[in-house]
Amino acid sequence: MTHWKDILQKSITTYSALQKHLDCNNTVLEEVIANFPMRINPYFLNLIKTPHDPLWKQAVPDPAELEDTVCIADPLGEENLSPVPNLVHRYPDRALFLVTNQCAMYCRFCTRKRKVGTERMHISDDTIQAGFDYLRKTPAIKDVLISGGDPLLLDDEVLEKLLFTLRRIPSIEIIRIGTRAPCTLPMRITKRLVTILKKFHPLFINTHFNHPDEITPEAARACTLLADGGIPLGCQTVLLKGINDDPSVILALMRALLRVRVKPYYLFQADLTRGTNHFRTTTETGIAIIRHLIGRVSGMGIPTFALDAPGGKGKIPLSPDFVLARGKNLVFQSPCGEICTYPEAGEAF
Ligand SMILES: *Cc1c(COP(=O)(O)O)cnc(C)c1O
Ligand code: SF4
Repeated sequence: MTHWKDILQKSITTYSALQKHLDCNNTVLEEVIANFPMRINPYFLNLIKTPHDPLWKQAVPDPAELEDTVCIADPLGEENLSPVPNLVHRYPDRALFLVTNQCAMYCRFCTRKRKVGTERMHISDDTIQAGFDYLRKTPAIKDVLISGGDPLLLDDEVLEKLLFTLRRIPSIEIIRIGTRAPCTLPMRITKRLVTILKKFHPLFINTHFNHPDEITPEAARACTLLADGGIPLGCQTVLLKGINDDPSVILALMRALLRVRVKPYYLFQADLTRGTNHFRTTTETGIAIIRHLIGRVSGMGIPTFALDAPGGKGKIPLSPDFVLARGKNLVFQSPCGEICTYPEAGEAF
């Protein structure tokens, strides 16, 4: 198998390379790329079958990115919630720790698109040390989410040292890694990597697949290796217009994830990130998709549909409402649409 770094090295990052490989002749794209970096690695490029298919739309820049006048730079207020650079402390018991600005692909819809892959996300040994110091002096944090960028873009040795340092902080109970590598560069998941990761249990991985076509034999192999290392796998899918905003596509994705031992965790409403307005759907679309899943796939295949509230107010679950009336009896609709009642405790029936 070709080394993942050699694959990454051959990524398309410029407009001229893009023109050579894909049918995209629009000089505006040069400006798009100057604002928001592009990286399409050969593995993901090969999965694109036709112009503007769901995989193309995730990877290939679009002039619409510059036309967005609705959305904002830091919709989640992450910078205001950072006690030290690159560490977001929004909930008492959890922290988000950004450890690299690199990804195997720069997704066009990324929440941190103004920063990832650029100097604007400045991560150094000093910022990482400051993160460790903050975690050491904040024992209320029991759960550290390592993110970025994509932490699995770090070299094995660097990642191992980072995990080793985190594990020496006694107040940290669980470590989570957020990574899209199983989807965008599955060759990154090697036996050697898994041998390192499993030394730091309880360690969870939340990965990110958006379309059933991304669950390739290579991606399945990557997930299998991780699951065999005893790492519980979750998936954080983003609901994206023209990509997966269709109940049958999400249903197929959820089934495909379960087959490779990935438990759907969140389905996210798109954030208000500048340059991504063309990907947004209505929240009603997401709620209708969850309603479609219920009764059609195991509860294990049903993610929480969530909106990351603007301004850093946290993740808000949005659920279909089956309840029609409350009182002595709860009146509700079944997934097939029948009207049912349930007598509340203490009520005669
Ligand atoms: C999403 C997020 C978390 C983790 O939330 P969970 O619901 O536990 O997955 C923690 N901190 C920040 C800043 C987040 O955005
Ligand atoms: S992998 Fe994640 S962090 Fe990286 S560009 Fe894609 S969505 Fe953003």
